[in-house]
Amino acid sequence: MPLAPAAALPAFAARARSTGGSPVREILALTERPGVISFAGGLPAPELFDTAGLRASYEAVLDGPDAARALQYSTTEGSPALREAVAARVGARGLAGTADDLLVTTGSQQGLTLLAATLIEPGDTVLVENPTYLAALQCFALAGARVVAVPCDGQGLLPDALAETVARERPKLLYTVPTFQNPTGRTLPGARRAEVARIAARLGLWLIEDDPYGDLRYEGSHEPWIAAHPGAEDRTALLGSFSKVMAPGLRLGWLRAPAALRRAAVVAKQAADLHTSTVDQLAAAHYLATRDLDAHVARVKEAYRERRDALLAGLGGALPAGSEWNRPEGGMFVWARLPEGYDAGALLKSAVAHDVAYVPGAPFFTGSPDPRTLRLSFTTHTPAEIAEGLLRLGRALR
Ligand code: PMP
Repeated sequence: MPLAPAAALPAFAARARSTGGSPVREILALTERPGVISFAGGLPAPELFDTAGLRASYEAVLDGPDAARALQYSTTEGSPALREAVAARVGARGLAGTADDLLVTTGSQQGLTLLAATLIEPGDTVLVENPTYLAALQCFALAGARVVAVPCDGQGLLPDALAETVARERPKLLYTVPTFQNPTGRTLPGARRAEVARIAARLGLWLIEDDPYGDLRYEGSHEPWIAAHPGAEDRTALLGSFSKVMAPGLRLGWLRAPAALRRAAVVAKQAADLHTSTVDQLAAAHYLATRDLDAHVARVKEAYRERRDALLAGLGGALPAGSEWNRPEGGMFVWARLPEGYDAGALLKSAVAHDVAYVPGAPFFTGSPDPRTLRLSFTTHTPAEIAEGLLRLGRALR
């Protein structure tokens, strides 16, 4: 008997239909062909990974008495040894605490997803910096949030504007990347951090402080986390990551949050993936116990500082007269703005035709984007390659 014609399938959820893919990923795909000098990707330099050290840690874990444990299911909270090592690192940067304050996540990206699942009802308002990290915007959109931008300047959030926006919009939380932000590279000064903490406490607001780049400082002095300022301690979820200091392929991050929020995030993580890969956690814990991660990070920073300086040295010659750009003290990104009448998105095609790439700034904005902006990452090419990339960029933009 012939089959009856199939009825139409029910629609995807509205949040899935309304959340677009990342244009950055599509551009990255375009620029993967050999010969392209790409300032587009936000990737760590692969030649600087401590491959030998990580291999030794994986071998030690899989050869030793822990091998079966490393391959077994484990607890949702994460390896106690890894959490203890993270607690020690976090303590050294100014936030005392223990392994119990921490949840290991599958990259800090998962920390964001867990917090969105825990805190956001569809229709809730989330405040963000403008511009901000694209995959955070996607995460909040998928949670059904109404995302509202807080006015910022070259140093990040403007506290008075934040207080006004909170009073007007009644948001549930503020998401911020206060140190070497993606995409702008900018860093929120200490006095403003203190004010953000005070405003959050006074007006009743959760804070998500996302800090994957803070260890990559090339000059200047370390700014304490917002989470360490009075008022923030009982309301801040701090997200950290091994992606930029060890390797992003490990997919290891952590979330530090007040007890009730952390427990709710643990339940959300059970539903998401039960736990982060046991073998990866044990290998990272072994690495932290037997190697000097800070010495490795110091070598990486040395290379990145030279690369940042090469980009800054050549940018003036590559961008049209009247362009502006910043000088980040760390991280991976320089943020630039072309003169009136230029459109960085429209010009990308010409750049790719000249075998060079960047990321247009527009997708990082909430509300009306600034089409003149672009993000340039300096981490994955040598200073000589960066100089050549800038010559090409100059030809492309001319
Ligand atoms: N937050 C920000 C601001 C980022 O730039 C990134 C990575 N590009 C992440 C979170 C996610 O990092 P991961 O999941 O690799 O820890």
